[in-house]
Amino acid sequence: MPFAQFPGNEKVKEILRLALRRKKLPRSLILVDSSGGGADRLAQILAQAVNCLQQQDDACGLCANCQAIEAGRFPDVLVVEPEKEIIRVEKIREVKRLAYLKPMIGRYRVFIIRQSEKMNEQAANTFLKVLEEPPASTLFILLTANPHLLLPTIRSRCQELHLAPLPREMLEKYLTQAGKDKNEARLLAYLVKGDIEEILKFDLQELRPKRENLWELVKSCLQEGPFSVRIKEYTSLGKHHRLLWLEALEIMASFWRDILLMKLRAPEELMINYDFREEIKRISSVVSIEIAEKSLKWLDQAAEDIKKNLNIQVIINSYLSRYQGQDNA
Ligand SMILES: [Zn+2]
Repeated sequence: MPFAQFPGNEKVKEILRLALRRKKLPRSLILVDSSGGGADRLAQILAQAVNCLQQQDDACGLCANCQAIEAGRFPDVLVVEPEKEIIRVEKIREVKRLAYLKPMIGRYRVFIIRQSEKMNEQAANTFLKVLEEPPASTLFILLTANPHLLLPTIRSRCQELHLAPLPREMLEKYLTQAGKDKNEARLLAYLVKGDIEEILKFDLQELRPKRENLWELVKSCLQEGPFSVRIKEYTSLGKHHRLLWLEALEIMASFWRDILLMKLRAPEELMINYDFREEIKRISSVVSIEIAEKSLKWLDQAAEDIKKNLNIQVIINSYLSRYQGQDNA
């Protein structure tokens, strides 16, 4: 895949292309990606670019080498990843042995090390030795979300590039180009976190029961009655799962956002939860713009409080209690 088809991170791509053009690409790179910027895909593009038969500073995506790398059957590109959460020394010894051999058919041997921070001490020390005596035609690409867990001596010998998360609109566009239905792409881009490839494979049906529950919770906020009853229905999340609650609040915010959009007479195709559109339209006809706007603000506040490690039960109770005494319509 050419760099141009990789969505986002324009600066990082420009740095890499410039380095390729000037033949100054560092022999060892760390791609830091903590929020699904697509480091895996970018590493593959780099492996193609240094071995492409057509281009010097890009991957054509069409030549035999580019295609074999894309298909994962190019003998000079090796992907290393942890087994049971550890990259052991045996694997890195194999990397070391191969790294000093001439490439078999390409210009470069490329080693892509996924979750490279999971090298154990022995593996990391062996790898460090390779970096200290870098082989001639080899490129190491270390992927990690936590570069501070790598040995400082490894970090100092690599150029580090940080990937930014993709803006939602860009992700949505990418998913549509990859063949997703427009509505589905919007929902995925908004609700699913992770690497682009993971998002592409995600089955939205998995999220459906949770979304239904949360939609019920949104609706019940608008009704009279003690909020402890409402929250009881949602205790399956557990009081302590901060990440799950953050996701839940985000899903609730997406419903409120859609309600607000309908109140503002925005076109329906902007709706995130397109599969709930009839219900959302019905609810939007009975709540005020004010309460929709406030709900979004309150949910934001609750998410901030959860990030600050405050007590979840207190936060959620306080969120729900805000609706008490509010005139919804
Ligand atoms: Zn090519």
